[in-house]
Amino acid sequence: MAYKLFIPGPIAVSEKTLRAMAQPMIGHRSTDFVALYQALQPELQTLFGTKDAVYISTSSAWGAMEGSIRNVVKAKVLNCMNGAFSDKWYDVSLRCGKQATALKFEWGQPVDPEAVRAELAKGGYDAITLIHNETSTGCMSDLEALMAVIRQFPDVISIVDVVSSFSALSIPKDKLGIDIMITGSQKALALPPGLALLSVSKRALDRATGIQERGYYFDFQEFQKNHENGMTPSTPVIPLIYALKSKLEDIKSEGLEARYARHARLNKTVRDWALAKGFKVFAKEGHGSVTLNCFANTLGYDLPALNKILKSKHNLVIDGGYGKLKGKTFRISNMGDETDATIAALIASLDSALSETPKAAA
Ligand SMILES: *Cc1c(COP(=O)(O)O)cnc(C)c1O
Repeated sequence: MAYKLFIPGPIAVSEKTLRAMAQPMIGHRSTDFVALYQALQPELQTLFGTKDAVYISTSSAWGAMEGSIRNVVKAKVLNCMNGAFSDKWYDVSLRCGKQATALKFEWGQPVDPEAVRAELAKGGYDAITLIHNETSTGCMSDLEALMAVIRQFPDVISIVDVVSSFSALSIPKDKLGIDIMITGSQKALALPPGLALLSVSKRALDRATGIQERGYYFDFQEFQKNHENGMTPSTPVIPLIYALKSKLEDIKSEGLEARYARHARLNKTVRDWALAKGFKVFAKEGHGSVTLNCFANTLGYDLPALNKILKSKHNLVIDGGYGKLKGKTFRISNMGDETDATIAALIASLDSALSETPKAAA
């Protein structure tokens, strides 16, 4: 049954991380917990590029994403949509009872800063949602250019999902002026699912104060109040916090620049392999993700058959396309702890499996 995940989340979790989770429980109001929580902050703040607190939420990323909508949208939110995850955010805004506008781009295209400017300039917006790295299409938007536009609209609180890019490249929250930056545990951090991390600006906290229906579980004020005591609002998933501590030690010992370079290099190795085979990158040229590759299935392989061979003969799994791209694209993650050696082994397996894979009936 043991096989390795090369899907873009959840991804393979190291033995060291799994061992870190298997430690005795501590009370979440104990001094031991406070010490654990506070020890994580400096390293998390470095990774987020922020002086603000980094809150630890026991939920998947969507909990913090929905919570952000509830905490800061009073008038109207602009949802930038260019793939399955960003499309969902419009739906979530409506389900939270908010006024929302959908700003749509073709799947595979990045979010266009000028289109964002034109829409925000119409007025009435007090928040915007953006996904840096659209995992469903492997498309990365230009966050620097987008934030340069958004910063010109001082009423607009920026809510930025960096779920599948966080820690794989530098995303300096304070420098870019991001108000709310959100990630999850099971993507580039290579932890099991169940934990979201978010950092919230003073501006966004102040906005939340003026909004009544923030709920409790994701209330920013609750997070901040508890943070100041080295705690979380409710009982957190302590094993994952042990795992996070272990992972932050790994990241520190590798060094950030080396970590970023490793992700870029392994990503390119996979891309070069596929391009040489005759596949094409699905995302617009120059906007390919650094943490995964999404390839158009231009050679017409039967992707379920490919995955069956990969799983049974090579003990690994890739992704056969998300949502409406199922069968039309395939995605390969290079997030987390992958190395030149593990990616070389993956490519050897892919070569072998493809040689046995039938082409799908047209
Ligand atoms: C995986 C993912 C999410 C959703 O994360 P959950 O952990 O399922 O809540 C959101 N955004 C992006 C970009 C993702 O890759």
